[in-house]
Amino acid sequence: MEKRVDSFMRCEIIAVGTELLMGQIVNSNGAGLARELAGLGIGVYYQTVVGDNEERLAAAFSLALTRAELIIFSGGLGPTDDDITRETVARVLGLPLEQSDIWVEKLNEFFRRVNRPVAQSNLRQAMLPRGGKLFLNDRGTAPGIFLEHEGKIIVLLPGPPGELFPMFKRQVVPLLQEKLKQDDEQAILQSRILRVTGLGESVIAERIKDVLGRQGNPTIAPLAKGGEVHLRITARADSGAAAERLLEEKAVEIREILGDAIYGEGDEGLEFSVARLLREKERTIAVAESCSGGLLSHRLTNVPGSSVYMLLGLVTYSNEAKENLLGVDPQLILSQGAVSDGVAIQMATGARRVGQAHIGVGITGIAGPDGGTAEKPVGLTYIAIEADDFQKSRRFEFWGSRLEIKERASQVALHLVRHYLLGKLKNS
Ligand code: ATP
Repeated sequence: MEKRVDSFMRCEIIAVGTELLMGQIVNSNGAGLARELAGLGIGVYYQTVVGDNEERLAAAFSLALTRAELIIFSGGLGPTDDDITRETVARVLGLPLEQSDIWVEKLNEFFRRVNRPVAQSNLRQAMLPRGGKLFLNDRGTAPGIFLEHEGKIIVLLPGPPGELFPMFKRQVVPLLQEKLKQDDEQAILQSRILRVTGLGESVIAERIKDVLGRQGNPTIAPLAKGGEVHLRITARADSGAAAERLLEEKAVEIREILGDAIYGEGDEGLEFSVARLLREKERTIAVAESCSGGLLSHRLTNVPGSSVYMLLGLVTYSNEAKENLLGVDPQLILSQGAVSDGVAIQMATGARRVGQAHIGVGITGIAGPDGGTAEKPVGLTYIAIEADDFQKSRRFEFWGSRLEIKERASQVALHLVRHYLLGKLKNS
């Protein structure tokens, strides 16, 4: 579906670390970098994972030099002996390592603050292959390094994702954009994500078929993710402002078709849209959760300022907790079971009463992997919304792992609350 606007620049990512090879950590840096690079229109042609071994790292790098113009390293910039990326890159390129006074000063400052002397091993981190430029790192002791060598661009980034991604986004992306622009006037690539809830990927594709069919610049790429669909629009232009205009035009066109199924843009999840609506409409909410284990409350409270609308979140896992804290009728649990329509409604009612909120939400279900029956399979979940003017429970059969079922339950509950707040849920 996605049309990639590849530039001349072929990229290879080399993730360094024996723990990656052994499966002790997942190469999420590789995945995240590849996504970011795709957004810039740079095609990642290879990803290599290699251990902390100098010969194999040198071999991987030498191979990458034969097949990519941009080579990005993740990891191996630490102070210990097994951190060998810096030295190996310098050796393969035949460049001497030179000390960066700027970084020595940074290290001095960093260690003064933590009241420790600078270790000799840390000073290694101030060594740069000749001609290399520093990327500053305000979260760790390893700077990133940018090198241009015989037509190749080589970028070295520290392994911890909390250091790597801010450095990449703030310092590497502008440099790469600059390079791309030198090669191609239309090199500025900007993306925007429209987030859609309540419609499946295929329904969305059907509705915006014409827009998708006409795509060229911008391109549109749908991606189903965590119970919702993201539409990534990517525009290519000769300036940021021009790219922004193209994005806006396309977003307006898609919004006209999908309406308020688009709940937001960018990084903010559905809870942010619900939070905005709760504030706008001056409504408060109380939540009683069973199978979702507090995930809905967690998401609602992830939004800064949530105390304005979020009054109560209870995880009532046992029948007794449902009865004693929420006033669920024990007879109902006996006759219908804890995972039932009636119990979900009584949980919502109880939460609203105890929390003295405008809206109550009740979630009860079977997250699995055990505990399912033919009649009540794993994934069966009831979600109820209760307010002065509305009371309803809905039945869902979610699929996936335990965590995925919990995530879907919280996602659908947020979707229902949003629909209620938009006046789209009515008592039938
Ligand atoms: P440090 O200064 O912390 O030693 P470094 O640049 O040497 O940084 P590594 O030692 O390779 O980086 O990795 C440090 C930590 O960063 C790892 O323990 C791991 O938690 C995380 N990490 C490293 N590489 C990756 C990766 N490819 N994907 C996700 N996390 C990673």
